[in-house]
Amino acid sequence: MEGKNVLVTGGAGFIGSHICERLLKNKNTVFCVDNLVTGTKDNVKLFLKDPNFTFIEQDVSKHPIEIDHKIDYIFHLASPASPVDYQKYPIETMMVNSIGTLNVLNFAKKKGATLLFSSTSEVYGDPQKHPQSEDYWGNVNTMGPRSCYDESKRFAEALTFSYHQLYGIDVKIARIFNTYGPRMRANDGRAIPNFVSQSLAGRPVTVYGDGKQTRSFCYISDMVNGLITLIESKYSGEPFNIGNPDERKIVKVAEMVQEITETKSKIVFKPLPKDDPAKRRPDIKKSLSKLRWEPKIGFSDGLKLTIDYFRNELV
Ligand code: UDP
Repeated sequence: MEGKNVLVTGGAGFIGSHICERLLKNKNTVFCVDNLVTGTKDNVKLFLKDPNFTFIEQDVSKHPIEIDHKIDYIFHLASPASPVDYQKYPIETMMVNSIGTLNVLNFAKKKGATLLFSSTSEVYGDPQKHPQSEDYWGNVNTMGPRSCYDESKRFAEALTFSYHQLYGIDVKIARIFNTYGPRMRANDGRAIPNFVSQSLAGRPVTVYGDGKQTRSFCYISDMVNGLITLIESKYSGEPFNIGNPDERKIVKVAEMVQEITETKSKIVFKPLPKDDPAKRRPDIKKSLSKLRWEPKIGFSDGLKLTIDYFRNELV
């Protein structure tokens, strides 16, 4: 993508700021909207001086978007996304994915823009099918600690699909699986930032449950490639899994972090949170065959890059 006008909602978040960075590098004009509830201006401070970057502090669920320029593409990434964050802000999470998505869809309709909605592997809930392919409908609790996120993302997929059907808007739905890398918040509560910051600080490394639950982690640069490839593709109104199928037990991830950081910290086992999915791995056959996208960065390389970032951040 080059020379385009692009809106990134949630552009001051972890994935959003990396999307902004890539777009600016490739000579696009970027409008970043964020209410900074979980994102931070630190993530975009490097771009604030760039004449092709505009930062707009706004909650897309409270006000319709108004930008007086032609807009070609929209990455709609605004939403709390880590379990700790969305459990702290359940209503904001549901509002940004419902009313916020409605506002962004209306803006896309007005501008004739292509919109990518950031959905999630959480639409599959605690999956009974493994690995998860896009045709699996999921196993989601409507009333649990994750329901504010899971159900509002499912609603947003349905709303996005309806706008596509009714108004012919070009929409892309990315089901984003666990992603990691620089600019994650040390305190966002997720496994990798927790394990890395605990190990570097010499604090106990907290593994929940017996640590045998699995996740499959995608490095941020692979995620950015996947999302940009999807938004530029011809496929409209259908979901694509974007993630890395390299599945690992959480306790093994903690051990790898301990090893790379050479920490003396010991693992401590804490209770498993309610509704914590037992297994998660994307089936990416569809993304591979239709988008010709697959992740490239191996887990230990990605972990080393992430650990280096946290080492510098935490001093
Ligand atoms: N987890 C853990 N220790 C932590 C944070 C998370 O064992 O300090 C576990 C968590 O219970 C889950 C997995 O790691 O099984 C991934 O959690 P995360 O919050 O990163 O994302 P999720 O995939 O659950 O949304």
